[in-house]
Amino acid sequence: MLRRQSLRESAARTYARSLPIVPVRARGLTIEGADGRRYLDCLSGAGTLALGHNHPVVLEAVRKVLDSGAPLHVLDLATPVKDAFTTELFATLPPGLADDARIQFCGPAGTDAVEAALKLVRTATGRGGLFSFTGAYHGMTAGALDASGGATDVRVTRLPYPQDYRCPFGVGGDRGAELAARWTENLLDDPKSGVTTPAGMILEPVQGEGGVIPAPDAWMRRMRAITAARSIPLIADEVQTGVGRTGTFWAVEHSGVVPDVMVLSKAIGGSLPLAVIVYRSELDAWEPGAHAGTFRGNQLAMAAGAATLAYVRENKLADRAATLGARMLGRLQGFAADHPCVGDVRGRGLMIGVELVDPYADATPRPAAEDGPAPDVLAPPAAPALAAAVQRECLDRGLIVELGGRHAGVVRLLPPLTLTDEQAEAVLDRFADALAAAERAHRPGPPVPAAHPRTVRTPSVHRRAATGPSH
Ligand code: PMP
Repeated sequence: MLRRQSLRESAARTYARSLPIVPVRARGLTIEGADGRRYLDCLSGAGTLALGHNHPVVLEAVRKVLDSGAPLHVLDLATPVKDAFTTELFATLPPGLADDARIQFCGPAGTDAVEAALKLVRTATGRGGLFSFTGAYHGMTAGALDASGGATDVRVTRLPYPQDYRCPFGVGGDRGAELAARWTENLLDDPKSGVTTPAGMILEPVQGEGGVIPAPDAWMRRMRAITAARSIPLIADEVQTGVGRTGTFWAVEHSGVVPDVMVLSKAIGGSLPLAVIVYRSELDAWEPGAHAGTFRGNQLAMAAGAATLAYVRENKLADRAATLGARMLGRLQGFAADHPCVGDVRGRGLMIGVELVDPYADATPRPAAEDGPAPDVLAPPAAPALAAAVQRECLDRGLIVELGGRHAGVVRLLPPLTLTDEQAEAVLDRFADALAAAERAHRPGPPVPAAHPRTVRTPSVHRRAATGPSH
């Protein structure tokens, strides 16, 4: 089957290359391959499976619709299933938005909802430009791709996303985030910046594909204040961070920011395709049919999604993600002491990233700013080959992990929120084993000390910033 797949499917296939398995059964955290091997799945459909595979409440909700004789295809007509989904979703929204929200059901993918959000704010403001951030990932359709980090579209102004480990200003922490915010503000206020007021600003509260980078809460509030003061709609892309994943139901809740538009997909469909935007009614300037689409009425996804949202809410799985995620992060940070190739460990809730680096590469010292913190050095180069080796070693040990980050050097864990303590330990045991094996294979001859052992940034600096109270 794998051979036939490689002969028949496009060269663009992705996960199928790094995870050569044929899933035939799945339950919770576990996937079983056609060869009978079992895997602990910490990819979770790229962060989709809040309740893991085939959760009983999801299956029951889907069966109920099938057994009821309800139509499965209804375009955007009203149905009891859709009504229940909308009610459940609105009950979870940040209060400032829920009170006065509209919902647009989009085509089924996250990228469709991103397109809808961009179109909405362009219609509502009559403006054309867009602010987005370095390292962003918003999808693969043309507009979403433009807003993502890899694009070169001139209508999109790319702003620095704050990050500690590879801070573009060389300082990280609160100061790095403050400088990033000032840059944004200055572009808008400087009449000669070459940038006009955009139709909107789109951001991920935690960059996922960009390498698991949580935005500092204070920076999020700055972005809200900057956009609010200039009537620029703020779009929060919560496609990956939503439904409890980061330790609050929606990741914007960490900062208390209420966006004007929220882009939602992945977990809201309870493992089936569903994507929506919710937004302040004031922005609802669309003409009838302004954003249509044949597949906006997936009844099974709405039923599975409503069941998932309710289960996460009733069982306080966001709190569980916060507690368990912090514990897992702590243990992973412990690994860093024994593994010089672990450059940084960061995350929020059950969205965790381990950045692998080449510790033997020459690190470049940075000059100290006059009033800035102590001299610093650039983080060592990313180690994508090592990250790929860790992913392979994990698979050999029955653990599925994701890769991400600017240089594909970040191993990502996105387990279901239903993960038990024992399962978390098993995941980390396998991960530790895989890391040690990959590191052994990649070590260049006998171990040598790092080029600048006393000035290379110690991971604890960024860990504190990524997980501490200021976030
Ligand atoms: N936004 C974010 C933040 C994402 O992580 C993704 C997918 N990884 C998307 C948008 C695009 O979603 P989809 O792949 O369903 O189009």
